[in-house]
Amino acid sequence: MRGCIAAYSAPVSLSSAKIVCRSKSLLFQFKNSSPFTSLTTTSIFTTRRPFLSLSRSQPNKAKQKQKLWEFNCATIPSSSTVENPYSDFVVVNFYRFVHINDPLEEVAKQLSFLKGLDIHGRIYVNEQGINAQYSGPSKDALAYVEWLREDFRFSDILVQISPALNGHAFPKLKLRYKPSLVQLEGGISHLPLLDPTMRATPLAPSEWRKRLKEVHDSNCVVLDVRNGYEWDIGHFHGAQRPDVDCFRSTSFGESNSEEAIASDPLANVDKEKTDILMYCTGGIRCDVYSTILRQRGFQNLYTLKGGVSHYLQNEGPVEWFGNLFVFDDRLSLPPSAYNPEDSTVSSSNSQGCKNILFAHCYICGSQVNELRHRNCANIDCNLLFLCCMDCVKDFKGCCCLPCTSAPRLRPVLPGNQRYKKWYMYRELEVQNELTV
Ligand SMILES: [Zn+2]
Ligand SMILES: [Zn+2]
Repeated sequence: MRGCIAAYSAPVSLSSAKIVCRSKSLLFQFKNSSPFTSLTTTSIFTTRRPFLSLSRSQPNKAKQKQKLWEFNCATIPSSSTVENPYSDFVVVNFYRFVHINDPLEEVAKQLSFLKGLDIHGRIYVNEQGINAQYSGPSKDALAYVEWLREDFRFSDILVQISPALNGHAFPKLKLRYKPSLVQLEGGISHLPLLDPTMRATPLAPSEWRKRLKEVHDSNCVVLDVRNGYEWDIGHFHGAQRPDVDCFRSTSFGESNSEEAIASDPLANVDKEKTDILMYCTGGIRCDVYSTILRQRGFQNLYTLKGGVSHYLQNEGPVEWFGNLFVFDDRLSLPPSAYNPEDSTVSSSNSQGCKNILFAHCYICGSQVNELRHRNCANIDCNLLFLCCMDCVKDFKGCCCLPCTSAPRLRPVLPGNQRYKKWYMYRELEVQNELTV
């Protein structure tokens, strides 16, 4: 954080989980320095909203609520605009199918390089290659990529970078050996992922865009190789909603039952004459799934190279409706996140974008005005669902009526936040009870 920072200590009292500080400064950063408990939240907020969500990691210390809690208040007196301390944070995604002789040794080598770098995320390595999704300050995040590219096996990895304005988008770093780089029923270790002729032909974003424009005049299918709930907040023009709740059970092109055939976009296509245009978020699911389709006899398979994220970065949201679902704390990104310079895109979000009429509340079916899922407030359900604001209110942030009376309910969150660990809310409850 920049600016002149004056740190001082000020005694503040805690009542009903609210803290009021007398200083008139615009911004405070509170850090716990109390000797008898450890707070898990460090928060920045303005005096206009003097609320700090507090939680103690030692519940049995609740009886000490009468004591004054002391915080270090760091103020930034001179700045009129509040700078986001995370403005430099990014999420990086990449994968590479390449033979790795000794994956365990590779994991150890990479772990040792990442020591000292501020990187959180999921990085999986095995004999078939690497699949990485992580967040960090751009300096650290890109240093890892640069280091990796020095190795000839990873020299041409295609990297997707997007902003993470709330800081880390993953709770911690998990870098380890994983038998399957992508979760698919039956595993993927038997698939010929390392043989490019068995995978689909990758199309550059500009070529993909051209092909999409010709879809109606040609014998081709646009295949969304993601989950249905991802399609629900954004997809390419012409792509049918995949009837898939979880990629691991995807079975396009091999449907047997009448019901499955009805929802399978590949059920009745001519395997030799039809062009299949496949896309997913970053490309890895398509690469994997194309080898399966190839084995099932589909001849003309094409994938969007680098996935939707690469496309939005290069072409903007042409032929694309809505936002992009991402598998990290951000959940949903407007196209502008990938291409901030594209003046044809709304700079703040895609809500003003031409067409979000396709997006519906999972509860009442009405249109939603926010293309972002939320987790059910009942922690024991935790379902990811799309919801209109009326239903958020009526169902207290829950996905259905039974969940509203569940024992472990969390408060309704503003749409752009994610729930934290349960003890944060359990402790809030304890504090509220004590102050009543
Ligand atoms: Zn609704
Ligand atoms: Zn629920």
